[in-house]
Amino acid sequence: MIIRKSTSEIELIAAAGRILAECLALLAEKTHPGVTTGTLDRLAEEFIRRRGGVPTFKGYRGFPASICASPNDMVVHGIPGRQRVEEGDLLSIDAGVTLGGYVADSALTVAVGDVGREALRLMDVTRESLEAAILECRPGRRLGDVSHAVQEVVEAAGFSVVRSLVGHGIGKDMHEDPQIPNYGDPGRGPRLEEGMVFAIEPMVNYGAHEVFVADDGWAIHTGDGSLSAHFEHTVAITADGPRVLTRRAGEEGG
Ligand code: MG
Ligand code: MG
Repeated sequence: MIIRKSTSEIELIAAAGRILAECLALLAEKTHPGVTTGTLDRLAEEFIRRRGGVPTFKGYRGFPASICASPNDMVVHGIPGRQRVEEGDLLSIDAGVTLGGYVADSALTVAVGDVGREALRLMDVTRESLEAAILECRPGRRLGDVSHAVQEVVEAAGFSVVRSLVGHGIGKDMHEDPQIPNYGDPGRGPRLEEGMVFAIEPMVNYGAHEVFVADDGWAIHTGDGSLSAHFEHTVAITADGPRVLTRRAGEEGG
């Protein structure tokens, strides 16, 4: 069942989202060669708690950290630690903030120094696919329109959407109904209604869509070792259309 949120509940998610947006902007700024992913994690936790929030990921199903830090061929769910960020890396950072009982979830991929033209294209296309999906988040559209928007942008660029991982509804819980695949048929699935709030998160591989889980039971890698990028926003469906609750200052998009 998709839980619709009241206007005041959406404002609570938006408050969590503002902290998260600022946190991710800070982490992007601090992601440079030599910094460890464990340091980024500590910065995130301190920032979120100083603002009165709780890092949603910490302890979630046993996850040991406040952010996921996933470099290069790692798609998502990387556990931060001693690993150092290196020149030429793509680093995907995902985080959640709980504030006043409501959750916001957002992710971005950061280019560390010169990553090359194709890696930048992968990032741009992933971001564009998210923005295309956000534009579908309005009353009367179908869930399949959101999924299809991602798939269309990604596959037109020659990349693959990860199929075994999905976006999700979000509210009091980080993961609520519905599941939001990054591929699908337009005009199919539940009709979108005012008050629904979605975490839309294209995970896009440079090569094939297959992925596997690492020995630590968390990190997900591309099956062919190709690069992957991940962008995510928490988006409310309002009468006026989509309202992005995790937009960062200076970020492109509506
Ligand atoms: Mg996330
Ligand atoms: Mg998510």
